Amino acid sequence: CHVSERRKAGILPSLEDLLFYTIAEGQEKIPAHKFTTALKATGLRTGDPRLKECMEMLKVTLKTTSDGALDRHLFKKCVQSNIVLLTQAFRKKFVIPDFQPFCAHMDELYDNAKNLSGGQVADYIPQLARFSPDLWAVALCTVDGQRHTVGDTKVPFCLQSCVKPLKYAIAVHDHGTEYVHRFIGKEPSGLRFNKLFLNEDDKPHNPMVNAGAIVCTSLIKVSTVMNFMNKLAGNEYVGFSNATFQSERESGDRNFAIGYYLKEKKCFPEGTDMTAILDFYFQLCSIEVTCESASVMAATLANGGFCPITGERVLSPEAVRNTLSLMHSCGMYDFSGQFAFHVGLPAKSGVAGGILLVVPNVMGVMCWSPPLDKLGNSVRGIQFCTDLVSLFNFHNYDNLRHFAKKLDPRREGGDQRVKSVINLLFAAYTGDVSALRRFALSSMDMEQRDYDSRTALHVAAAEGHAEVVRFLLEACKVNPVPRDRWGNTPMDEAVHFGHHDVVTILRDYHTQYSPQETAANKENAEQNLDGLL
Ligand code: GLU
Repeated sequence: CHVSERRKAGILPSLEDLLFYTIAEGQEKIPAHKFTTALKATGLRTGDPRLKECMEMLKVTLKTTSDGALDRHLFKKCVQSNIVLLTQAFRKKFVIPDFQPFCAHMDELYDNAKNLSGGQVADYIPQLARFSPDLWAVALCTVDGQRHTVGDTKVPFCLQSCVKPLKYAIAVHDHGTEYVHRFIGKEPSGLRFNKLFLNEDDKPHNPMVNAGAIVCTSLIKVSTVMNFMNKLAGNEYVGFSNATFQSERESGDRNFAIGYYLKEKKCFPEGTDMTAILDFYFQLCSIEVTCESASVMAATLANGGFCPITGERVLSPEAVRNTLSLMHSCGMYDFSGQFAFHVGLPAKSGVAGGILLVVPNVMGVMCWSPPLDKLGNSVRGIQFCTDLVSLFNFHNYDNLRHFAKKLDPRREGGDQRVKSVINLLFAAYTGDVSALRRFALSSMDMEQRDYDSRTALHVAAAEGHAEVVRFLLEACKVNPVPRDRWGNTPMDEAVHFGHHDVVTILRDYHTQYSPQETAANKENAEQNLDGLL
């Protein structure tokens, strides 16, 4: 009865079913909370914009159940709109496959820096002086949109100088590298960030110091900048502190001095209204973020300009690469050289206590704690960044192959067995022979079964993947007649779904080898594999 029901419904081991098995762990139903808990363990948030359809359907569907649990049919209904992302998450295909242990390490690093008491909260304007020195937050977002936050991650604060790399990226995105660098250099200045000083060509040294950032401000448009900020942050919190803007303007004598000097030296594009640009500069400093939203901005930089949680392309790869290069050499005030040496990652700090840190191709991080050291960098932030690269091999020049003393969270560990069944059946389902070859080569058990006792051979036969069937039989010597939970063999599947080529392969194989011979041949499987791989 099971068999006919199953066939009538046309239920094959679809991606949805494979996902169901993974989460159900042998049970008939998945309680909704079990699903969301399992989801969060992968690093995805239920509020992720890429899971909108799934979450909406889940809400609607749960109202129709009496026990808040999903059977295979209801589960499929909920997940099918976002099945690609969900499958990636549960097959541990994200950049940090074992996200939970990674987060535990992050929390340890956070706790370690929490105890630091040194540093001074900036007090040149009241909007900064009011912050408690105890505030401390770390948020991260990976290039796959995995999220983790710890501490005061929802408190708004101003980007201040952390906006400098962002506006530089926007300028390059809009105008290209060559145009932007007609006006601004690419060299660390060796001088304090707000010095009234230009390079030998009478240009600001780089876009991360005030002079360069003020010129850079003249290259971007007021009308589009907030749109860029929102997109960089995947539409999470971006605000504006008008009080900060007013205070910055009132106390900004040095920046006015720089502005006039830049004007005298003809550093701006022709026709620029310098005082309007200074206002715009102060406004950009006054853009508010939270640690959480800024981590998404950093992640967009880590991800080549694509926002991980919306998938939207915000910045050109050229703009992002330039930005990371200059953050690496010039992002940390007069600590930039030492930071590049010890941490080896692009970062930008600001006077509000933020450090925007990028681990290219892995994740973006925002650290925030108001007390600053003598050079103007967040004391706890610096500690966190330093500790991060002593634990993980994230330093740009850490050797990924041979430097075994550090952890590499990019490497897979953990639940190998469950993962391998899923990967195996998935490859059989999609007809991916080369993946199967790799599995066989890494001595995976090619006869593994899922919760319905189905094997890769069942799945390949039902899907009509002749080449896969041949590979499993001839190279891997798998049992040709395994029975699934409904008593079906791969031959039954091939016949039922009318895959005549597969039927022929299975029948020829049966005639060639008796079951006893097959078992004996299995011993020679490795030799045969050499020929076929
Ligand atoms: N508003 C400050 C200035 O332009 C920003 C300081 C900073 O974050 O480095 O001087």
